[in-house]
Amino acid sequence: MRVAVFSAKSYDREFLAQVEDRHEMKYLEPRLDPMTATLAIGCEAACLFVNDVADRQALEGLAGAGVRYLALRSAGFNHVDLDAAGELGMRVARVPGYSPYAVAEHAVALILALDRRIHRAYARVREANFSLEGLLGFDLRLRTVGIVGTGKIGLAVATILRGFGCRLLAYDVHQNPDCLSLGVEYVELDRLFSESDVITLHCPLTPETHHLIDEAALAKMKPGVMIINTSRGALVDTPAVIEGLKNRHVGHLGLDVYEEEGDLFFEDQSDRVITDDVFSRLLTFPNVIVTGHQAFFTQNALSEIGRVTGENLDAFEAGEPSGNDLI
Ligand code: NAD
Repeated sequence: MRVAVFSAKSYDREFLAQVEDRHEMKYLEPRLDPMTATLAIGCEAACLFVNDVADRQALEGLAGAGVRYLALRSAGFNHVDLDAAGELGMRVARVPGYSPYAVAEHAVALILALDRRIHRAYARVREANFSLEGLLGFDLRLRTVGIVGTGKIGLAVATILRGFGCRLLAYDVHQNPDCLSLGVEYVELDRLFSESDVITLHCPLTPETHHLIDEAALAKMKPGVMIINTSRGALVDTPAVIEGLKNRHVGHLGLDVYEEEGDLFFEDQSDRVITDDVFSRLLTFPNVIVTGHQAFFTQNALSEIGRVTGENLDAFEAGEPSGNDLI
């Protein structure tokens, strides 16, 4: 089957090479959008990543080019208009749990780096500045961490932080028995906000979770709270968090995702002027670390994304369900 791989990077080519014996991969550098959809001409499937814009117009363009199947190389699927895809007769599959450990370990890396000011210490020592002023951290042991969303990634975070001796609170619309076995206490969201020293987000982006962290939520949090978002940018109302950072109510912020990341992330922008003032303001705080949507980016995860994407394509070609189908 011919597959148009949008937003293709060198690492996508490397890890999708394992399916090239069965499928003809047409690697396309541009992101999918209504203008680039026609690049898929002659392909039965399109393989998409998180910042491809699979809205109705782009999907109509793909359908016009002959695409009948969307193979997402991501777990999240909030970037795809599933209603439109269904109406256009497309099937859609994702890679649900390629490596929850990759994302969980990155979330914990952000917690530790912010707590112990590793980003500042690294820069200082390279300038032969060995002063400890401003680097004071706290023990994670006995601190309360609130985990929002206790699916595969939330569970992996809970497992790691249990090892640090943290007290773990969680909020989810479904309780995960594995989290309960670890001693995680499920509470209402307001209680999680008011009791947590660290809040880490691991729920999907849905209409219910859009701007979950807004001005009202921040007002319920402890002064000095640390907020970590490795899930989806729009879970956080960024201007509200910037106000919280300015008035020092928010003590630390670690982001791997950003609501308007589509025009920024995954590209080298170092020669360009960044015109997003909200994003630029975030970068000015000493107690903020932003990474460019790299939490998933481990060898293990990419290898698994390649393997499962291949299986999804095989299943579609054979006219069988894949087990990872969204529609
Ligand atoms: P999952 O489906 O295993 O778990 C998601 C959990 O969120 C489930 O337990 C679900 O019940 C819960 N949930 C759903 N709606 C909720 C709500 N309104 N409030 C609270 N909890 C709710 O998913 P996962 O594999 O753990 O991934 C979680 C998210 O992480 C994905 O949706 C994706 O957005 C993000 N992600 C980010 C990266 C990255 O590189 N930064 C990589 C993979 C996934």
